[in-house]
Formats: sequence, structure tokens, C-alpha cells
Amino acid sequence: MAGFIFSNFDKVGYNFFIFVLGLVTGSFLNVCIYRLPREQSVVKPRSRCPHCKKTIAWYDNIPLLSYIMLRGKCRNCSTKIPFQYFIVELLTAFMFLWVYNQFGFTILSLIYIIFICGLIIATFVDFNFRIIPDEINIGGIILGLVISFIYPYLHNSSVNILGLYRSFLGIIIGGGIIWITGIIGDFVFKKETMGGGDVKLLAMIGAFLGWKMAILTFFIAPIFGAIVGIIIKLRTKNSLIAYGPYLSLASVVVLFWGENILMWILFR
Ligand SMILES: [Zn+2]
Repeated sequence: MAGFIFSNFDKVGYNFFIFVLGLVTGSFLNVCIYRLPREQSVVKPRSRCPHCKKTIAWYDNIPLLSYIMLRGKCRNCSTKIPFQYFIVELLTAFMFLWVYNQFGFTILSLIYIIFICGLIIATFVDFNFRIIPDEINIGGIILGLVISFIYPYLHNSSVNILGLYRSFLGIIIGGGIIWITGIIGDFVFKKETMGGGDVKLLAMIGAFLGWKMAILTFFIAPIFGAIVGIIIKLRTKNSLIAYGPYLSLASVVVLFWGENILMWILFR
């Protein structure tokens, strides 16, 4: 039925629809990024300016456009709206497009979108606060397990219990590899090297992508970390960087190209 209705749209129409859906979702992710680390409800109340507390009108809350129209300032008090809002909306929309073009209108796409939305929240909260909210970490691990049981095709199986098992294995191996690295790092450097948030984040990634992709993520993340770390070090004196964003970025790369990367490593 849906196929019949949508067959009247052309490819541009589809993509535009997905893009707008991504923008609206990104707008909600911004709310989560602001409120989750502050222990506030993401549902109520409506969005307010954090400075003057004035409720934001719907026409000032349109993704991307409002930011441009308001030139990045609150209409009431002219306090600067962080550019991050704009970035998160755009990033989410492009992720929606990427997933849709790779996996189509499928259940798999929906699962990957949910997964990536969790990663986007984790990334920006980690950037701002150096923590990853448990709603995302623990919530993601549980959700990953449940989805893997209901939809075992996520782990290339048609047997429910096997989907659950592979998700569980992803959690143990993904979380375990960072946990052990942390213990070794703490011993060598005599200070905390890996946060508990990183352990839970890679466990969550394992829950959705399985143990092989979790290990691959673990090895790819430091490459991004090193590149950005060098840039940050050149620009500031701060060498302390949040690790969650690099795990997230690596896991997205692995989601799209993981199988190819594994093939290349094993059979080149
Ligand atoms: Zn204001």
C-alpha cells in the first residue's frame, strides 16, 4: 500500500521527504542533547531560551531556517544560539539520507537510524560535558538486545534467539575490550584513561552491530581520535579529549563499510 502511494513520487521527492524527516528528528535530538545531561524531561515543557526562559514560538523553531532567519540569536533577548543546533540538524538529516540510500525503506534502515540518533546524542553530550547519559548507553544496550531478538536479521540470522545471542556477545566483547584497555591504561599511565561511559558506549555499539564490528570500531576510533587530537593540541594546550565521539564516528564508518574493511584486512 505504502509502495503504491509512494510510487507517484520521484526519487528527488523521496530524498527530500527523508531529509526533512531527518531535520525534524535532529531538532528533537538537540532537545535531548541539552536536557538529558541536565536531568530534565525531553517531552515537557516546550523549548525555551535557556537565557531569558521565553518559550520559543513554532516559527522560530523550524530546523535550519529559523537559525538562519534569526541569525543565530534569540528573538527576545538576542543571546547567541549555539551553532551546534544547526550542525546537529544538518548532520541528522544527512545521516537519514545516507541510511535511506544504502538500505532503502526497510526495517533495517529504521533500526540503523535509531542507533545513529543515539550516537549523535552521545557524541554532543560527550563533547559538552565529558559524560554519556545512561539513557543512551544503558538504554541503547537494552534496546539493542530487544531489537536483535525481535529482528534477528540485524545479525544475519532468521532465528530470534541467535539474534539475541549475537547481540549479547557484541555487548560483552565490545564493552570488555575497552574495559580491559582501561585497566591496562590506568596501570601504565597511573591515571584514569578510559571512562565507564566509553565501556558502555562500545557495549551498545556491539549490541547493534555484533562483536566483529565492535572490535573493528575499537581499532578505527583511535585513528579519528589521533587526527582530531593533533588538531586540538595544535590549536589549544588541552590534550584531554572526549573519546565517545570517535567511537561513535568509527561505528558509523563500520556500519556502512565494515564488511568491506574486514574483507580487505583478511583477503588483501
Ligand atoms: Zn532569550
